[in-house]
Amino acid sequence: MSHAALQAAWWQRLEKLHQRAEGASGLACAARCTARCCPHAAMATQPPAYTVSHVMIMLPFEMDYILAKTALDPARLRKISVEIAPGLVHEIGFANVATPCPFLTADFRCGAYRFRPLDCRSFPLTPVFGMDGALDFRLTTTCPSLDTFAHAYQEQLKTVWRDLLPHLSMAYREVYNQL
Ligand code: SF4
Ligand code: SF4
Repeated sequence: MSHAALQAAWWQRLEKLHQRAEGASGLACAARCTARCCPHAAMATQPPAYTVSHVMIMLPFEMDYILAKTALDPARLRKISVEIAPGLVHEIGFANVATPCPFLTADFRCGAYRFRPLDCRSFPLTPVFGMDGALDFRLTTTCPSLDTFAHAYQEQLKTVWRDLLPHLSMAYREVYNQL
């Protein structure tokens, strides 16, 4: 499949999965930690109870998709090259505690909320890929909203990730685990 055809297929997939990964999460983010799971340098000055670190890793072509929907300067996102399909290397966007997400606003809101990555929609549920590429999940126990995180929403997210698995290369799964 050509690069253009692969991108078109991924954008179509992203449109659908972003719709599916919405719902009543039960998370009380603004009330409990004002979205401090989003990487931000200011976290270092917050009390320990609030220093929840969210590493956000985008799906193949998700960075291109979100950048097309927002006005963000592409240079502001961190990127890593990954073989997303046989012989096709593409840049994946990511952010971690050392590199604040450029979509995070000064008042700790997501500036790309409508188009935010699946990884952000899933947190504190996080996919884990085994050595054989198998998909499992874990909950980030430092999230202060874990007690209200809706079980039905978690199951909904797991289904989205499971449906996505055949489209994620082994190289992507390895990079996801490592970042
Ligand atoms: S998901 Fe949890 S850690 Fe992240 S902003 Fe919401 S309450 Fe905070
Ligand atoms: S895209 Fe939005 S929700 Fe995701 S890490 Fe950035 S600011 Fe947070």
